Formats: sequence, C-alpha cells, structure tokens
Amino acid sequence: MKGLSILGATGSIGSSCLDIVRLHPDRFRVRTLTGANNLDRMADLIEEFRPEMVAVLDEEKAVALSRMLKGISKPEILFGRTGYVEAASWPTSDAVVLAMVGAAGLLPALAAVDAGKQVALANKETLVMAGEPVMARAREKKVEILPVDSEHSAIFQCIRGNRARDVQRVFLTASGGPFRTRPGSEFSDITPEDALNHPTWNMGPKISIDSASLMNKGLEVIEAMHLFDLAPEKIEVLVHPQSIVHSMVGFKDGAVMAQMGVPDMKQAIAYALSLPERLDLNTPFPDFAGLGGLIFERPDFGKFPSLEFAFEACRRKGTLPAVMNGANEIAVQAFLEKKIGFTGIFDIISTCMGLHTCIDNPDLSGIIEADSWAREKALSLI
Ligand code: NAD
Ligand code: MG
Repeated sequence: MKGLSILGATGSIGSSCLDIVRLHPDRFRVRTLTGANNLDRMADLIEEFRPEMVAVLDEEKAVALSRMLKGISKPEILFGRTGYVEAASWPTSDAVVLAMVGAAGLLPALAAVDAGKQVALANKETLVMAGEPVMARAREKKVEILPVDSEHSAIFQCIRGNRARDVQRVFLTASGGPFRTRPGSEFSDITPEDALNHPTWNMGPKISIDSASLMNKGLEVIEAMHLFDLAPEKIEVLVHPQSIVHSMVGFKDGAVMAQMGVPDMKQAIAYALSLPERLDLNTPFPDFAGLGGLIFERPDFGKFPSLEFAFEACRRKGTLPAVMNGANEIAVQAFLEKKIGFTGIFDIISTCMGLHTCIDNPDLSGIIEADSWAREKALSLI
C-alpha cells in the first residue's frame, strides 16, 4: 500500500490522481491532501478519502473548513506555506504528487525531496524557476523526480532502457492550442473564454492560457532541459494538433522512439506512481485507422514569441527563467481578469526579461527575489 500526499488535490491533475486511487484502492492510500480556496471540494474529498492531514491557503480558510467538517472525524488542518510543506513531508506518505499550480509549488517540492519521498512532479513552474538547485538537491538526496507532465513522462519512458548519453534530440510535441490557425493579426481580439477552450486537453485555467500562448511549451522546454540534463539545442518543439504522440526521443543511430496514447493525464500520473508496472486504467487506445495520419508542423515563433523567450531563458540561465515565469503568472492572471489583452501577456514577459539584471548561479533566495521582482515589475506594467 503506497501512502500518497496529493498537493493541489482540488485541481485538474489532483482530480485525475484521485481517480487513479478510486480505480486502485488496494494499492494507494491518501495520507495528505491540499487545496487553496475550494473548501466545498476539500470537504468532499476529506469525507471520501479520510486523509490524516490537509492544508488550505490561509488561516481563515482552515477555520472555515474545520467548521464544515462537523460530524466526521477531522484530519489535522494546517494552512499556508508551512501547511503545504508539512503535507509534502508527512511521515506516512511514500509518494508526493505535486499538482499545485504556479510558483507556490517550489518549497513543497523541495520539502518532498528533502524528506526523501518519491516525487511525482506536475508543477513545472518549480523546475522552470529553480531547476538547478532542485535537481542538485534531488541528486544529493538520491531522489528521482518522476515527471507527470505528459511530454516529459513520454520522454522519460522513451529513454528508459536506453543510455541517456545516446540521446541526440528530444522532440517535444505541442497541440498548438486553440489559436494554431488564427492569424497573428487577430490575436488582439482573443478573450479569456476563447483561450480557455483547449482543443484536446481539459486542464486548469492557468495552464490552459499558457497552452494558448504556447508559453506552456516554453515552460516545458526548460523543464525538459533540467529533468533530462539536455542542452537547449537538443530540444525541438513540434506542433502535433492531435495530441496522440506525447513526445519523441531521437538517438544517435537515427532511431526515434515515440510514446503515444489518447490525451488523458491519468496515464502519466499512474506511471509515475507505479513504474515499472503499468496499471489498468480502462483507457482506450488511439483510433489509429480513424486518425488517417499523424500531423506534425513547425511552430510559428513569430506568432508565439513565448517560445523564443523560453529558449533565451534556457541559454542565459541564472535568474532569467524565474523572471520569465513570475512575469507570466502575473500576466496570465491579468488576462483572465480582462485587465490586459492576449498579446499583453507577451509584451509584459518581454519587458520584464529585457529589464532584468540577470544573476548567474543564484541560490534559492536569489531565485525567490528574482521571482518577486518580476511580479512587481509585471504588476506595474498592467
Ligand atoms: P488547477 O488550476 O486545476 O489546480 C491547481 C491546484 O493548485 C488546485 O488544487 C488549487 O487549489 C491549488 N492552488 C492554487 N493556487 C495555490 C496556491 N497559491 N498555493 C497552494 N495551492 C494552490 O491546475 P492543474 O491544471 O491541475 O495544474 C496543476 C499543475 O500541473 C500546474 O503546474 C500545471 O502546469 C501542471 N500540469 C497540468 C496538466 C493538466 O493537464 N492539467 C498537465 C501537465 C502539467
Ligand atoms: Mg504538458
């Protein structure tokens, strides 16, 4: 029986993870759960999964949640950063699923590594901000960070059984999002409702906007660089609108391995939790004959400058990736609140990256400082 801590349990990845627990109650036991604001959902999950400990965003919410739980045996209820860190290092948990969104994932991720847990990482922002210190800490603690992002799970699966040093190129696939075929000249008309309507994946709001701007792929380029210790030149983004090939790895003999499946995050989450075994997920195979063919296109860097920002951040390293990520988080929130237009997201990131004085080899506090600087600068531009 594997004890699980699921951080971000009320979100899209958290829900898929809990579906896996429901399918395999004999293998997984939920020990801790965290959410932020959605207390009704937290209360339902507590009733269903009976965790030992939960954490929510702040003290007020912790008190409110405690009141809502009358009648059922209550878990320990904590809140804020210390609550999330406690959830990630809880003694009876064997594996931690990091499925909270944004920079808030960084400290819990480090706590899970420090506690020597098996780490299933969905929260890509952690590696974008602080890839070097997090991966160094994981090596030091002999903790393997298992990717949950579907592309990185695919790359991980393709490399397994091969030698990492034989990898020549990684083909990171992207659906292209809802605006793949919309002319760049019409980007200023895009509304949050248009951008939230992803053609192939059903995800939380922040990553849905990131997918529409292709910043999600930019973040994933940086994530892949850290997870697989790749030079940026070895990473090629390919648009693949069907989202069947989750990514591919090319080896030095010219062989290319692809990992495929219908777009369903349960596969990647379950693999991180059960490897090398594969769990029965009642998932259908892609209808290959019905597809007729697999489509690949080059991304349009002109329409989607986010990709260029990410490659620049990869090459420059230091605090620049954290600045790109922090500015993006603020810009996406402002776009969702209709304070800026869609292309404003690109403008804000570009301005923040341009104004930032990059620091080489920052420690964690330097990274957190750069993140705060970027957030303040982005807010001042809105
Ligand atoms: P979501 O918005 O559906 O859920 C986010 C979760 O994080 C919720 O439980 C929310 O309560 C919690 N949360 C939000 N703000 C928080 C804060 N400040 N502190 C603590 N908790 C907070 O998001 P999602 O789509 O499930 O994505 C979660 C993470 O997984 C993101 O980093 C995303 O990039 C990554 N990811 C998601 C998918 C997907 O298909 N949804 C795929 C790959 C990677
Ligand atoms: Mg992905």
